Amino acid sequence: MPSNALRLPPLSLYIHIPWCVQKCPYCDFNSHALKGEVPHREYVDHLLADLSADLPLTSGRGVSTIFIGGGTPSLLSADAMQALLDGVRARIPVAADAEITMEANPGTVEADRFSGYQQAGVNRISIGVQSFSAEKLTRLGRIHGPEEARRAARLATGLGLRSFNLDLMHGLPDQSLEEALDDLRQAIALNPPHLSWYQLTIEPNTLFSSRPPVLPDDDALWDIFQQGHALLSAAGYQQYETSAYAKPGYQCQHNLNYWRFGDYLGIGCGAHGKLTFSDGRILRTIKTKHPRGFMRGDYMARQYDVCAEERPFEFFMNRFRLLEAAPRADFCHYTGLAESVIRPQLDEALAKGYLIETPEHWQITEKGKLFLNSLLELFLADE
Ligand code: SF4
Repeated sequence: MPSNALRLPPLSLYIHIPWCVQKCPYCDFNSHALKGEVPHREYVDHLLADLSADLPLTSGRGVSTIFIGGGTPSLLSADAMQALLDGVRARIPVAADAEITMEANPGTVEADRFSGYQQAGVNRISIGVQSFSAEKLTRLGRIHGPEEARRAARLATGLGLRSFNLDLMHGLPDQSLEEALDDLRQAIALNPPHLSWYQLTIEPNTLFSSRPPVLPDDDALWDIFQQGHALLSAAGYQQYETSAYAKPGYQCQHNLNYWRFGDYLGIGCGAHGKLTFSDGRILRTIKTKHPRGFMRGDYMARQYDVCAEERPFEFFMNRFRLLEAAPRADFCHYTGLAESVIRPQLDEALAKGYLIETPEHWQITEKGKLFLNSLLELFLADE
């Protein structure tokens, strides 16, 4: 058991809505093509029962951010969202200034529903645009077209939410540099405070893995990244994580908490949680994946302790996704371990030029970013 007393990290809440209109061929998320109607109230009741069962794990802390992800959370009615967030607030303190994000598919965004979500407490939406090319959207199996994406973004602007995000992908099947940059230009023109710009990757157990499309090669991807990054920077967006860009002051607080190795409750089908206790224990929780099993009331699928040997790797795997310098004190505060435990690995990372160390911080270098796997391997527990 680690010797240093832990200062408990901030606590977030993740809520998973597991249904989509149809399954996209590249998607490996826990999402299920909807057959019939979303069981709005029934699922919300289960989510709240799941939350109640998790409350003893929170050590009395309130939540500082909430993220409702999926699947397609915008399939949930505004009434169900109200009941969900009312139920959450009745069970656990939610900070007055909490960021409450909800993911939305442009094809399911309706104006009246959206003001309902806002009334329920949602103050940030994340819109899954992916591309502004009708041809690419069809290749990606998306149910929306470019105009619906623009309409959803304008709607988000008009509602005066605290922030909104557009999700965009690059490295799409047969995508040229100019097409990738054009997607970015169209996204920037809608002026979102936050832009997530992911590279499409082929994941196992997806339709794309059994019938792989032709993707741009590594040289083409490098050009897309370099020139896209320059476009985003010129438009005032700062990269703060591998795929995340934001105008100053608009970083996603919920994701920041994950990457800083903060705590989170995860409720709903397949949701993951991480909880620290004042005795130094760190627990990971995984909920039942399939809606059928989950809605039988069997919420917890698995829980296990993160042992001291595994913590350095877990901490840095998250921390080094962020481009900001990592306060050295956070290692001790969040893992409960003394820095001396990882001194040999740190010295090796410094000698190889992967890191810079100041009295206060560690900063990953360009070389460290390029050889991230080698850097992280240093912190892996011995077999
Ligand atoms: S809409 Fe999103 S979660 Fe649903 S299948 Fe497509 S990529 Fe997956």
